[in-house]
Amino acid sequence: MMVGMLSTMQDEPLSLATLLRHAMTAKADSEVVTWTGSEARRMTFGEMGRRAGQLAHALRALGVEQTDRVGTFMWNNNEHFVAYNAIPAMGSVLHALNIRLFPEQLTFVANHAEDKVVIVDGSLLPLFGPLLPGLTSVKHVIVANGDASALEAPAGVSVHSWDELLAAQPEEFDFPVVDERMAAAMCYTSGTTGDPKGVAYSHRSSVLHSMQVCTTDGMALSERDDALVIVPMFHANAWGIPYAALMCGASLLMPDRFLQPEPILAMMAAEKPTFAAAVPTIWTGVLGQLAANPQDITHLREVIVGGSAVPPSMMKAFDDEQGVRVLHAWGMTETSPLGSVAHPPARATAEEAWDYRISQGQFAASVQARLLDDDGNVVPHDGESLGELEVKGPWIAGSYYSPDDTEVEPEKFHDGWLRTGDVGRITPNGYLTLVDRSKDVIKSGGEWISSVDLENAVMSHPDVLEAAVIGVPDDAWDERPLVAVVLNEGVDADAEGLRAALSDRFAKWQLPEHWAFIDEVPKTSVGKFDKKVIRARYADGALDVVELEGPHPN
Ligand code: ADP
Repeated sequence: MMVGMLSTMQDEPLSLATLLRHAMTAKADSEVVTWTGSEARRMTFGEMGRRAGQLAHALRALGVEQTDRVGTFMWNNNEHFVAYNAIPAMGSVLHALNIRLFPEQLTFVANHAEDKVVIVDGSLLPLFGPLLPGLTSVKHVIVANGDASALEAPAGVSVHSWDELLAAQPEEFDFPVVDERMAAAMCYTSGTTGDPKGVAYSHRSSVLHSMQVCTTDGMALSERDDALVIVPMFHANAWGIPYAALMCGASLLMPDRFLQPEPILAMMAAEKPTFAAAVPTIWTGVLGQLAANPQDITHLREVIVGGSAVPPSMMKAFDDEQGVRVLHAWGMTETSPLGSVAHPPARATAEEAWDYRISQGQFAASVQARLLDDDGNVVPHDGESLGELEVKGPWIAGSYYSPDDTEVEPEKFHDGWLRTGDVGRITPNGYLTLVDRSKDVIKSGGEWISSVDLENAVMSHPDVLEAAVIGVPDDAWDERPLVAVVLNEGVDADAEGLRAALSDRFAKWQLPEHWAFIDEVPKTSVGKFDKKVIRARYADGALDVVELEGPHPN
């Protein structure tokens, strides 16, 4: 029974269909722009809305009902944006497939989500074609930006050309406003920590999250922005930027498959984005390219970086060398993803502001956070006590998607909270500092060493391009840190020197004695350091390790 006085307000559902209608009318002149390697292909939001209408009619004609899943296997581009909007707005469920997953994982997620139709970019057919025979629920494939006849389909699967299919359809579609709790879109986690798990975002969570992206203390996205969306649309909804753009009319710049530093900078020179979003590894490459070939990028009012900890040295390089502000944010596929954003408090001094900026940021008003110690006790938000972070809120997952009654990893959720697997501390004014992922923390002699702190410190050395730190087994200490380091071209730093440079920032027992010089840090499908691979290489004896003297028991 409901207790209390009912409000007098309308119960109008929050809906991506409503956002789409707003975008194609009020924001009709905003643009989505795709880079082709040498120039841009442009589409207004008005045109995008008409294409979305055509796609919705085409999908209905192919038998796609409300609640059916439609997969996309695409780069960030105009057509992906059309599909991104049409599918939820017609009441069906968008499933953006992570094109960089291993083939077995891709087959797993497409079958698990039971995708009925998949829309594929022509340039990705060589990757997608071999998967198709294993995709048991797929009945139709639509090929965009390429030649549909290049795809050989197994019996029972029809292949269509995007252009021909859409051209035959009317442009107006009566997008329904469905129950706001219904699924609008799905993303699977990238499997950094086990099998990919599906998160089904609702219309309600997507609209509320979009509002958060548009707030000044979120990403402050607005119609004045040209937002360069490097983070893939399959990685936690491209951090919510595409749906937020429907709300505020920010124009979107899409790099398609041109994700290397050179073409990204060429697109920046041509289109002058005011805002850009990508994981730290992308920016390492862009900064390297800028050092070799300087280019003014001060048209960027802000660069948002997250997905893994941003090395403070990178933030400093953007500040001092490029005159561009980096905004650090924390989130997960399970949190839509915006959890916290590192705007410093308005009254902070310059020195305090820096400490706030390199933290993972302040939680959004609607996101509640708590820290639990190993015994399950809640620890205070005093800026010092460490614990595993748990969050809850209207755009945080309450469970993983399951096609039947079996629960997927139910241990990740309890008492209405999501267990993040991240370990950190929170200040009284709600700023989070992450120490590590719980499985990456190095446990040495009963004490913790943060792999992230060591990585950031090693990467601040002028001779170092990238560094990833893992814990390796040790008889005396249980675990000790191993640094896998990539040097800048043409330098010949050694392990002794690199370790000496850390000595004023870490206690003696925290200084790593195992060093491996590698050509490149292996990356996950979304561009994060892949420590699983480094651990496996170490276990196989495939790493050439320089051994320095370790700590003495005393
Ligand atoms: P996956 O878990 O497959 O890597 P996600 O992108 O959802 O995919 O990863 C979320 C995780 O990424 C977080 O739990 C956290 O460990 C890490 N992460 C995200 N943003 C940050 C950040 N700003 N600083 C440190 N770690 C981060």
